[in-house]
Amino acid sequence: MTRTTAVPLAPRLRRRAAATLLPLLAPLARALGYRLLRIRDRGGLGLDDGAIPYGTSVFDDDVPGVANLDPPFLAALRRAATDAAADGIAFTVNSGWRTPAYQRRLLREAVAEHGSPEAAARWVSTPETSSHVSGDAIDLGPADAQAWLEAHGAAYGLCRVYRNEPWHFEHRPDAPTRGCPPLYDTPASDPRHQR
Ligand SMILES: [Zn+2]
Repeated sequence: MTRTTAVPLAPRLRRRAAATLLPLLAPLARALGYRLLRIRDRGGLGLDDGAIPYGTSVFDDDVPGVANLDPPFLAALRRAATDAAADGIAFTVNSGWRTPAYQRRLLREAVAEHGSPEAAARWVSTPETSSHVSGDAIDLGPADAQAWLEAHGAAYGLCRVYRNEPWHFEHRPDAPTRGCPPLYDTPASDPRHQR
């Protein structure tokens, strides 16, 4: 392999190495008083924009992306996380509240990745319609936590919303009595996003 063909691979490999190492280093950094931001949150976005450090939980009041969630929604998330922990399941926050500037950047990146605003709309909403910007949505990980909350969330008023996003949950205060509403296929088919 020539050096020329190897060069384009280098950034991707570096990124993959960072994606593997940073979560492992995050607890050590945190013990030393530092927070490592998730890779996609780098590049000018800070905690005050809703950037989320690795290993953030729904109890992290010092992370604005968590603290700025709608208070009844956050309280429901904390009740669910406490009960999930008793089942050996840990909730990790991958995204929560975000500023319009952060949402605009996500939308720009999605348009670049998916090729058109229409294709991007299947994954990312606008700052005007995003339930993350209004503090009413959380992207949860890992997969076992998503599965736990999809199975048990209705009792807490916490519902998955989109068929293509197993990680995205919102507050549905009626869910304990009525159950969670049917899923939309994608954010693009969500009537709240029709403007
Ligand atoms: Zn989301």
